[in-house]
Amino acid sequence: AFEVLTIGGGPAGAAAAIYAARKGIRTGVAAERFGGQVLDTMAIENFISVPATEGPKLATALEEHVKEYDVDIMNLQRAVELIPAARPGGEHEVRFASGASLKAKTLVLATGARWREMNVPGEAEYRNRGVAYCPHCDGPLFKGKRVAVIGGGNSGVEAAIDLAGIVAHVTLFEFMDELRADAVLQKKLASLPNVDIIKGARTTEIHGDGNRVNGISYEERASGEMKHVELEGVFVQIGLVPNTEWLVDSPVALSERGEIITNAHGMTNVPGIFAAGDVTHVPYKQIVIALGSGATAALGAFDYMIRQ
Ligand code: FAD
Repeated sequence: AFEVLTIGGGPAGAAAAIYAARKGIRTGVAAERFGGQVLDTMAIENFISVPATEGPKLATALEEHVKEYDVDIMNLQRAVELIPAARPGGEHEVRFASGASLKAKTLVLATGARWREMNVPGEAEYRNRGVAYCPHCDGPLFKGKRVAVIGGGNSGVEAAIDLAGIVAHVTLFEFMDELRADAVLQKKLASLPNVDIIKGARTTEIHGDGNRVNGISYEERASGEMKHVELEGVFVQIGLVPNTEWLVDSPVALSERGEIITNAHGMTNVPGIFAAGDVTHVPYKQIVIALGSGATAALGAFDYMIRQ
């Protein structure tokens, strides 16, 4: 059995594994896809101390760093069930889709999150070539260009306000007839000169020239009329979904959005079970934040163990 077993091999899981292994305790990482969301992006310009890198390169670096230590990496393992220790200080068990099962004194749950996609033609094709999901990450890549933001909830309106300060023009599309964001955000958005808001709009397709995005089509729902806007970028802001479906029947407390709730030591409501990164209720989902919370969770797990 492991002393620290991390479920998930993104930045949070990798950081937790390194911090745990450096304590000389038996450490494992089981992940569906080592590298996590970092594998899905190209330009990364906010990984502090590295002015510019690329997702696959950073993912390889994370794995190489983990491999410097005596850590068991079990890739292509999807966790499907968590069985907490029957008594305090006992071993927790995680079962995997492969049929395997692992036991550990402490767990760090770091299964991350995924952006909800629109599932319209062009979205997958132009991902990272004009289609983006993270304004903090990719906003500056669209400096001086025209972009769309899809979604009029808090994250969409925050993204539109943020991007309006960087890009030439923002068009915000909302499916419903009203925005759902907080009134104060809506007021701020309405005050910006380079933002158009189109409500009651169903986005139907993202267009490109084969290389990069050059426009978006939508249906005006009230009239059924099809319209087209020329632009260079599309930020999809219709939700970030935590990968916690496998925990719904476990005693680990989740927020109303399905995110794992932790304390300042990264511990969940279940003693010995910790969590880190995008899967938690941390308000900002970023690589450097996930790394820091992974370190916190591993140190929290170590602290917990020396008190058992
Ligand atoms: P993730 O990276 O999501 O890793 C989760 C891990 O858990 C993966 O290994 C996954 O395979 C595994 N997993 C999931 N479910 C299971 C399961 N049931 N069983 C076992 N394993 C499981 N952030 C920045 O700071 N800068 C950027 O420029 C940037 N650009 C981005 C661009 C894109 C397109 C995307 C999608 C995200 C970007 N982000 C960026 C956000 C950043 O990637 C995340 O904040 C970060 O990866 C979160 O790390 P994590 O370890 O918490 O989760």
